[in-house]
Amino acid sequence: MTQPTYEGYCRETPKVFKVRDKRLGTANIYPQPARSILSPATGYIGGYDFTLNPYRGCQYGCSYCYAAAFSPNSKMRQDWGNWVIVKENAVELLEKELQRWYQKNRNTQQKTPSIYMSSVTDPYQPIESKFQLTRQLLEVMVEYQPRLVIQTRSPAIVRDFDLFQRFQFLRVNMSIPTGSEAVRKDFEPRSPSIQARLNALSKLRNFIDPQKGYMPKISITITPLLPTFPEHELEFIKKLRVADRIVFQNFHTSTNRSLVASTRSEAIELQKKYRWWYESADQNDRAFKEKLEFALPKVEIKEGKEGFSYE
Ligand code: SF4
Repeated sequence: MTQPTYEGYCRETPKVFKVRDKRLGTANIYPQPARSILSPATGYIGGYDFTLNPYRGCQYGCSYCYAAAFSPNSKMRQDWGNWVIVKENAVELLEKELQRWYQKNRNTQQKTPSIYMSSVTDPYQPIESKFQLTRQLLEVMVEYQPRLVIQTRSPAIVRDFDLFQRFQFLRVNMSIPTGSEAVRKDFEPRSPSIQARLNALSKLRNFIDPQKGYMPKISITITPLLPTFPEHELEFIKKLRVADRIVFQNFHTSTNRSLVASTRSEAIELQKKYRWWYESADQNDRAFKEKLEFALPKVEIKEGKEGFSYE
């Protein structure tokens, strides 16, 4: 396979087109074949067998996104949010790789693989409405019934509820790092509103008839835990009831090595604006956790790595 190249980020002119989104601006889109689609899971989500990323790059371009560190080159890392590589052969690869897994494991105790979708992109970012790659991957996976986690911040999941209810082992992780829209707009200005994400989870609860389909487990991942203004906190916590698990964790703090997952400098800069929170971050984290535990006794509250497990 030839080495891929990226227009705007190198001298050559590869296959590329631009999409313009009213809110997100223009992104360079590179449809390219991938070598494989299921990657062995490591690090924070090392408890899974595989990660599955239909795309590389992410239009949401959140200021704190650690995945930018895994961009193909430093120019693209700087321009995180404005390019997406579409793994155009993802569906064929997945079918083959799942078949191979079941073949290899047919005499072992493990009946199904566990898959985390996605670790370095959002499977429901806006371009998904055009390519429907995530939907096609779900259509493949539903035949194999893996233990699947879908990690997203997009209400666009509503499109696929018909498929969700056919998975026996599915957890939906919705990322909502703050209860204050102003904070959301500072740290992740391109992402959907907090309310839109919560509404999508309520719709999921109402959509699935337990007599006819499987209800997924629902987590809200407050990762990284961003400030919430005191006047929004109570209302926010009440709305988190829609989940059966809340996960929170702080920023990855290291920013000094380019190829290590870490908070981007934009977010570090933004922390200065929210000094009132970050100056006593540990204390605020603890207080937030206590409020969660008090207000949501029926919801599992987990911190860090442990919260990202399927079980
Ligand atoms: S949605 Fe996720 S992958 Fe995309 S930029 Fe934000 S944190 Fe990164």
